[in-house]
Amino acid sequence: MADVESFTLDHTAVLAPYVRLIGVERGPKGDAISNFDVRFVQPNEGEIPTAGLHTIEHLLASLLRDRIDGVIDISPFGCRTGFHLIMWGEPMIDDVVPAVADSLRAIAEEVTWEDVPGVDAFSCGNYRDHSLHSAREWSRRILDQGISLDPFVRTGV
Ligand SMILES: [Zn+2]
Repeated sequence: MADVESFTLDHTAVLAPYVRLIGVERGPKGDAISNFDVRFVQPNEGEIPTAGLHTIEHLLASLLRDRIDGVIDISPFGCRTGFHLIMWGEPMIDDVVPAVADSLRAIAEEVTWEDVPGVDAFSCGNYRDHSLHSAREWSRRILDQGISLDPFVRTGV
């Protein structure tokens, strides 16, 4: 089986919340695509409940694109402790973290249910499984802890 970088990370050594560059891949014409580990919860010590994670996913899809260019996708980890963020080019973590943090701030402080995109049977695969209440609480908790620029040392925002 192929080696996958994420499975070589020592999940017991990291200090969440943080943003970490997993790697940069290059296409045949030289285009760069960056893959980030956006870790919101300390691995094996907790996880965001599915409904809250789902609502954070829908909101980050819009809020993050409003705050930083080059977002291809942001999708939750199956372990529910964070998200993969895929971006065009080679953005700096120093630019990614404030965009993520301000998106969480908007979820915690500004967003209403009417703002949550795609919460109907037409546009979501499980539209009944959402919780803005949980999304708000977890966003606040992550912001209170601060999002580190380094996965192993608490720094930054
Ligand atoms: Zn959905």
